[in-house]
Amino acid sequence: MARIYEDLTSLQKRIRIIQRVVVVSVILIAVYLWKMQILDYNRYWQKAENNRLREIKLPPQRGLIVDRNGVILAKNKASFQVSFIRENAQDLQLSLERVARLLSMDKKELVARLDKYRSLPDFVPIVIKDDLSIEEVARIESNQMEFPELRLAMEPKRDYPFGPFASHVLGYLQEISLRELRIPQYQGHDVGDMIGKTGIEFQFEQELAGRKGLVVEVVDSLGRKVKELVRRPPTRGNKVYLTLDYDLQAKAEELLNGREGAIVVLDPRNGEILALASFPNYDPNKFIHRFSPEEWLSFVQDPSHPLENRAIRGLYAPGSIFKLVMALAGLEAKVISPWTTFFCSGTTVIYGHPFACWYQPGHGAMNLEKAIQHSCNIYFYNLGKLLGIERIAAYARQCGLGQLTGIDLPGEKRGLVPDPEWKRQNRGAPWYPGETISVSIGQGPLLVTPLQVAVLTSMIARRGQRIIPHLFLKVEKREGTSQYYSPPCEEEKPGLKDKKVFERIISGMWKSVNAGGTGQGARLEGYDICGKTGSTQVISRDTADKMKKKIKTHSWFTGFASRHDPRVVVTVIVEFGGMGGQTAAPIARQLFELYRRKYD
Ligand SMILES: [Zn+2]
Repeated sequence: MARIYEDLTSLQKRIRIIQRVVVVSVILIAVYLWKMQILDYNRYWQKAENNRLREIKLPPQRGLIVDRNGVILAKNKASFQVSFIRENAQDLQLSLERVARLLSMDKKELVARLDKYRSLPDFVPIVIKDDLSIEEVARIESNQMEFPELRLAMEPKRDYPFGPFASHVLGYLQEISLRELRIPQYQGHDVGDMIGKTGIEFQFEQELAGRKGLVVEVVDSLGRKVKELVRRPPTRGNKVYLTLDYDLQAKAEELLNGREGAIVVLDPRNGEILALASFPNYDPNKFIHRFSPEEWLSFVQDPSHPLENRAIRGLYAPGSIFKLVMALAGLEAKVISPWTTFFCSGTTVIYGHPFACWYQPGHGAMNLEKAIQHSCNIYFYNLGKLLGIERIAAYARQCGLGQLTGIDLPGEKRGLVPDPEWKRQNRGAPWYPGETISVSIGQGPLLVTPLQVAVLTSMIARRGQRIIPHLFLKVEKREGTSQYYSPPCEEEKPGLKDKKVFERIISGMWKSVNAGGTGQGARLEGYDICGKTGSTQVISRDTADKMKKKIKTHSWFTGFASRHDPRVVVTVIVEFGGMGGQTAAPIARQLFELYRRKYD
């Protein structure tokens, strides 16, 4: 009995132990399940979903950019790219090794590329090579099973059929940066996307970009497609019409070719820019590749600055072109009349310093018209002395100098209209009266862009109405509707209202071209061209020798036609081109000639 009792007690003891083990196990299992289900739920769920559903974005066709008559300046062509999905690589180091071999890439370059996007989740595909050759595409496709980390995709690639043609207007694309990806403006973009970085491509990115399409598909554990769930095709970007005229642009570029400088041709009635050329230029096709740091550096470091749009960013002394502003200021302020004369003997002394005319023998007695026609310095020195720097600066600003023209391109520079306040702030010195005399003929610290000169010229041509120059003509929407640019109301500048004032100046400009003045190189039989030349000394003889430049002046011409019905303005600057009448005026003549043949 006692034995049985003892046996029972030991049995009960064992049962209790087993019970405890079971309870503890159950608790452990419960805790484990709780952790699995609650804490790790999101992680496991996401992983399962990623493996089961695959999202593929379909890149849209970028909108075309065409000239005013529909000539295609930027289009798209098909291209292949390959992306790397880190999550799908079993052994990242080994995979990098193999992928570099497969794509004949430098492993370091590949690692650097992936490192750049280290901060992004592993499942984000990162483009590692684009613009693949047919052989490369075939090689990737035939090895796809062994490389689940690689994804091949077709993308429309930007193509500029005329290479460097109008490159500063069109701009170029580059890969979106991580910083840009965070800006609301670029919402909907992904890593590796190409976006407009400058020019029209940047300015009208919203119109041109289009919208991405989306495919959602079910895939098995090996990443093979089982079924397609969703397919939303991409929407192509809108077609942007520019005001440019292909022929005038091509002619302007041809005329500049080989010489640093800029040309602007615009319609003074509405501000439509027909040509905007800047040389040296560059081929925007070279920027389409995501990986060409050497090429990029060669552009950035080129001392002739091919990326710089000289028409809107080149800062030049206006030289004698500024005499037009002086003439306006003098007549408006009534310090002179059109019949006021100053005598030019070749030199004069003002404030105790000698100042020379460019024409050493002297021009003789000069009134306003003759002074513009022959570009006499002595006349304008005297006028500058009468006006004083404050009034000169005020009129220059009313004519649009020292401020943005408002062109629809990024990066425009405002130039500089100096006055005593500017000098105090920037040079820490008072204004000397002698400096006013230099400014009177467009020298000194005065700086303008070629586009500002074109706008000034169209204001004179329109007898006081100023326009906002622009390149955007209209956008043709996907739905087939068109939206035109409506230029803001032309401004009548207060103080520049007297049309008679303009007639005197225009008469001088007409004589400059048509009556043996400095602008006669622009003369065209039977076409009433009015113009003004300028040449500005930019470097000293010593510097010129060092730079191996024979000529040390920039050559300017700006003008319009016709005298009584202005429809076209042409502004030309050729760096180191010598006298304005020599180089810039004949270039302008050829553009006037082409314009007349095509439009007048
Ligand atoms: Zn003179």
